[in-house]
Order: sequence, then C-alpha cells, then structure tokens
Amino acid sequence: MDVVYVDNNATTRVAPEVIEAMLPYFGQWFGNPSSMHTFGGTVGRKLQEAREKTAAFIGAQPEEIIFTGCGTESDSTAIHAAIASNPEKKHILTSRVEHPAVKNLFEHLSKKGYRTTFIPVDRQGRLDMEALEKSLTEDTAVVSLMWANNETGVLFPIETIAPMVRDRGIVFHTDAVQAVGKIPMDVKAAGVDMLSLSGHKIHAPKGVGALYVRKGVKYSPFLIGGHQERGRRGGTENVASIIGMGRACELAADHLKMQSERVRGLRDKLEKGLLDAVPKSMVNGDRENRLPNTTNISFEYVEGESILLMMDRLGICASSGSACTSGSLEPSHVLRAMGVPFTAAHGSIRFSLSIYNTEQEIDFIIEKLPPIIAKLREMSPFWKP
Ligand code: PLP
Repeated sequence: MDVVYVDNNATTRVAPEVIEAMLPYFGQWFGNPSSMHTFGGTVGRKLQEAREKTAAFIGAQPEEIIFTGCGTESDSTAIHAAIASNPEKKHILTSRVEHPAVKNLFEHLSKKGYRTTFIPVDRQGRLDMEALEKSLTEDTAVVSLMWANNETGVLFPIETIAPMVRDRGIVFHTDAVQAVGKIPMDVKAAGVDMLSLSGHKIHAPKGVGALYVRKGVKYSPFLIGGHQERGRRGGTENVASIIGMGRACELAADHLKMQSERVRGLRDKLEKGLLDAVPKSMVNGDRENRLPNTTNISFEYVEGESILLMMDRLGICASSGSACTSGSLEPSHVLRAMGVPFTAAHGSIRFSLSIYNTEQEIDFIIEKLPPIIAKLREMSPFWKP
C-alpha cells in the first residue's frame, strides 16, 4: 500500500544516504571501536568522525557529545547527572507540556522526595516566563525545558531561558529531540548546559541518541560500566547507528533551508486547505513560534481516533492528540495544559511533515479529509451544523 506519511514527529524514514553510510559497519567493518587492533581502530576512527559531525551540527565540540540509546536516555541521563552533581538541592523544575521522557521522570522523582514545579503554558502553548522566573530558588538543582513541543511544534525561547537559569547557578537542560534538524541550532549561542537529541527524528535509525554536555558542567554517568564514551556511558557503542546519525546530521544541515521554505510551505498549504474546507476547525498552538513541519488541528465534535482510523484506510499516517488509555479516550496532557476545550482536544490531529513529502500528498489529504470529518459529524449526537 502506498502511504502518505505525515507522522514525522513520531519517527522518520531512514535516509538512503544514511543506510549507505551504515551498511559496511554491519558486515565488513564489524570490529569493536575499543579494540587495540588496527581493524577495531578503523571503526573507532569512524565513530570519532560521527561525533565530529554530530557536534558540528549543533555548534558543539566533539568531546562534548555522548552517544546514547535514544532521546529518552539522553533526557534521563542529563536530569540524573544534574541532581547527582547537586546532592544538597531538592527542587527540580520543568513545564506542563513535556514529552513523557521528562514528564514521567519528574513525576517519579517527586515520589523520591524531590519538590517538583511544572510551569504552566498559555492557550497558545507559550511558557509562563514570569512563573518560571519566580519559581527559581537556591534549592533548584535543574531546569529541564523542551525546545520544541512534539505535539504542537510550539517553540520555547531557550536562548532567553538558558542565561536566566544559569545566572542563578542552576543547571539548564533542554530536550531538543523535536527541534534538532528542523530549526538552526547553536548550543554555544543558546548557552545551554545540556541538550538531548535522537537519531530517529532526523532520518537516522531508531535506538541511537546523543547528549551534549557543555565542557565544565559537572557530570556523572547514568549507565555505569566500561570506559566507552570516556567513561560517561558504559556499553559498546551502537556503531552503525552512530555512523548513520553522523551522516544524518550532515544531511540535516544541508536541508535546513528546505525545512524553513519547502516543508513550511507544504505545512501551511495543508493547514489552510483544511481550515478553509472544514467548519469549526482550529490550529492548536502559537502559529508564529512553531516548528516549520508541524500543525496540530482540532476538528470539533469528532474523535481524533475515529479520524485516524478512517485516514488509515486511505494510507494516511498521522497522530491524534488523545491516547486510548484503559478504554477511555483521554485528551493529551499538552492540549489540556493549554486549556483547549474538551470538544476540540478530543478531535485533534497532529500532522508532521518531512523533506520527503510532496505537494500531491498534501493535495490528497486536503481532498480526502474534509468528507471524513463531515461523515463522522453526521454520526455525532453533539454536532449541530
Ligand atoms: N522528547 C521529545 C520531545 C520527543 O518527541 C521524543 C519522542 O517522540 C522523545 C523525547 C523521546 O525520544 P526517543 O524516542 O528517541 O526515546
């Protein structure tokens, strides 16, 4: 079946150039990068090249990059490192709209005795900066805030937040898993202490991530084991995937302009086409400060899951803002934190594009989706045209 894949914030296709770069490291060059022999050393040098490419893409030094198993591991490692380095501090701070990788870890830490603050957002998903500033205390060990929201694409002003937090002697981590590759990024200019990224969101494979740790930031490993990653993350490296991620970073650097022009253009066309054709539909999130590839649209009085199922029959892959938990449809915590009304939060769909989407695909969605919404509304007891 041909699929129209507009779910790139969930995961992305591995770029053909990335696959090509990885293949020799499954077969011919299977050596362990830590081995003393020349064969392993050759692999070690390729690993170092991938580190240089990943670092260059975000404006870091190679030795500031630690390869991990995924974005979630990078987030966990950063937050655990920050609290372990400041054992006397018992307050940690994040936002109400974080990905579960951070949100659930904060909830876990709150059960372990940490005082946690979840900063609210407004109706557009923008962070309450005043609340943030007021919540920073001498007891705060770490502030972890996402750069871009995975559901709405809304960007937090990381360049403004990082100095505000660091000036108070607090460690600042950002989950940039969705932002990397979609907007230009320079960790030095932004002034962050730690930053998480994930391979499978930037056309590299699943199961590889990286954590940037600014030189001088206190760090302690999460995975304790061998001397890999200079003793900062034990475990033999996922060599082929790391090499793939290095290549993906190079490609993403070349594609940034395409993201901000072509992908943004397709996203805007899709958004306008659907809003024009479907009454009682609206975009969730700040339309100005947003990733170029993401739109989250609510179609009132229909269930997101039903829309997804009907789109799925046509091969259209997207995501809904509600998750089916224990039989009941629970609207996403992000849309709830934004105060999106219940009737709209339930019918929200996230479309997230990539450089591989075409104009024909966007036209196909604009043609097929409005009749689906109309049909579902006919069946809804709440819908009044
Ligand atoms: N953080 C954000 C904002 C994400 O969107 C995701 C994945 O969707 C993650 C973290 C987790 O990344 P991974 O799937 O690599 O663990």
